[in-house]
Amino acid sequence: MSHKETVSIVGLGQMGSALARAYINAGHRVTVWNRTPSKAEPFQGQAKVAETPAQACSESDLTIVVVSNYEASDQVLHTPLVAQAAKGRTLVQLTSGTPNDARSGAAWASEHGINYLDGCILVYPSYIGREETAVLYSGSKGLYERHASTLRVLGGASAHVGEPIGAAATLDCAVLECFYGATLSFLHGAAICASEKFPLDAYRAGFQAILPVIAITADMCTKMLATGDFKGTDATLDVHTGCLQHIVRVSQENNVDRRIPELILSYFKRALELGHGTDEMAAVFNAIQNRPRG
Ligand code: NAP
Repeated sequence: MSHKETVSIVGLGQMGSALARAYINAGHRVTVWNRTPSKAEPFQGQAKVAETPAQACSESDLTIVVVSNYEASDQVLHTPLVAQAAKGRTLVQLTSGTPNDARSGAAWASEHGINYLDGCILVYPSYIGREETAVLYSGSKGLYERHASTLRVLGGASAHVGEPIGAAATLDCAVLECFYGATLSFLHGAAICASEKFPLDAYRAGFQAILPVIAITADMCTKMLATGDFKGTDATLDVHTGCLQHIVRVSQENNVDRRIPELILSYFKRALELGHGTDEMAAVFNAIQNRPRG
């Protein structure tokens, strides 16, 4: 019979509750703690409800922390009782933050003899526990592998993305920017459609059609950024700048807020000033970094 690690979940917001349910469903012995006790009530009878974060840490091989932000996490974890309870055990930080947050969390853990992984969750709570779900981890590869089968309960596509403890947070910040930027642009596009009484269902279908093109463009940009050579045969920055200008114009003509396309256009214009007019779109990277043409 395989041994299943005991797991504690600290933080029972929307995400922490989903993590706790996944471990309960997978047959792990689970302990939960939340600052506001009422959120632990649904887990009575299925999990042990700890009275303190220190008790939660002392109950399990592995404790996963998922609270609003690192400030909250520090308030919960940075006490002598928690440090003592977690010593020699593994703490997995799934609270979102920056690479610096991850480094300071790891420094605290190391000072107190606690094994530490930092991670990021790339899905909504309802996707936790699915085969295709990815939760990404950074820190010691050996430590990740020791707990890999337990961590994979949260998502079958979970992976280790780097030994530097800030790796998962770096990826999280970068990917989340794509998520928010794309969603905001989607909503701006919806406003343009609404201003023309264009049906939203047809807009959504058009959006689905452009998604593979975004993926192709991301691949092209990755290759060009690696070589620094922005020459290509797809579309010049001059052409893209023209398209952005008419998105600004339709916004203006239809009284739709135009700050998003104007901001995007400003980077493209800067890239033109840097001499990239006949290069592919990847050259805008130099405008973002404010670098002269190489
Ligand atoms: P949430 O539903 O708002 O829950 C926040 C949790 O943090 C609650 O358990 C709350 O406790 C706790 N908390 C806040 N301040 C605290 C403090 N000072 N001391 C102790 N506990 C404190 O948020 P969530 O959706 O679960 O998100 C949690 C983390 O997961 C965030 O870092 C978020 O970025 C990340 N995440 C979320 C999603 C998502 O789709 N929801 C996806 C990926 C990553 P109380 O109940 O006592 O207020």
